[in-house]
Amino acid sequence: MPRPSSTSLTPAAPTASVTSVTPSEAHDARAETRAETREMARVQQRLADAIYEHRLPPGTKLPEVDLCRLLGTSRGTLRKVLDRLASEQVVEQIPNRGAFVARPSVDTTREVYALRRILEAGVVRTLANRPCGPWINDVRHQVDEEREANRVGDTGRYIRLAGKFHLDLAAATGNSALNQHLKRVVAQTSLMTALYDEPGTNNCSVLEHLEILDAIQAGQHRDAERLMEEHLNRCERQLRLDDEPKPVDLSQALGLGATSPAKSPIR
Ligand SMILES: [Zn+2]
Repeated sequence: MPRPSSTSLTPAAPTASVTSVTPSEAHDARAETRAETREMARVQQRLADAIYEHRLPPGTKLPEVDLCRLLGTSRGTLRKVLDRLASEQVVEQIPNRGAFVARPSVDTTREVYALRRILEAGVVRTLANRPCGPWINDVRHQVDEEREANRVGDTGRYIRLAGKFHLDLAAATGNSALNQHLKRVVAQTSLMTALYDEPGTNNCSVLEHLEILDAIQAGQHRDAERLMEEHLNRCERQLRLDDEPKPVDLSQALGLGATSPAKSPIR
């Protein structure tokens, strides 16, 4: 169901009764709605990047007042963005306590990795059983970028590209239901990596990504499935499941440079 918006016009057929709204007012309202959509996208991107790149770890409180100030946005926009992230299970909203970066439990972590093994074995089987499209060259190029990001120590970019590898394979199947589902579980495992990753380890191996691509391209679906399963098993084994998160500086986490006086508590 579409979210209500204070600035959007009620959807209606063009011939419906719109006598109270002049064309100029309708134009202004549409422009305002587009501006709001862009602003939501900007705020969501900033928050999601900070979460997926592990600058805002799981369990971090997301105080509305601080975030509005730091991101230069309105409370209404921020709330809509938090609602959206909550629907993606990236943020958890607790009545009377506010919003927090979701903090998946150890059991949930194990279940989600098991789900990924099932889904992604299906992804690589599907891809290996059909002629390889031009997508594979794009993904290979991206794995090169992933290797470079890892080499120069650009952790945020490396984490994003490593996750994107798995999403790009799902997208290449052309199955949008599978693609949507995998987006959600990859986002969840990104949180789990932020929460439980052993410092200094690289959760996704570039070499393993290349081996998976080779098996797909050669049409070796059994090898591709086995390599993907082993890869995800190794990702899961790298997690340290008893880790405690540390306090976070919201301003730095959001990529805003200067140190904020308000440290965000971890629940
Ligand atoms: Zn990977």
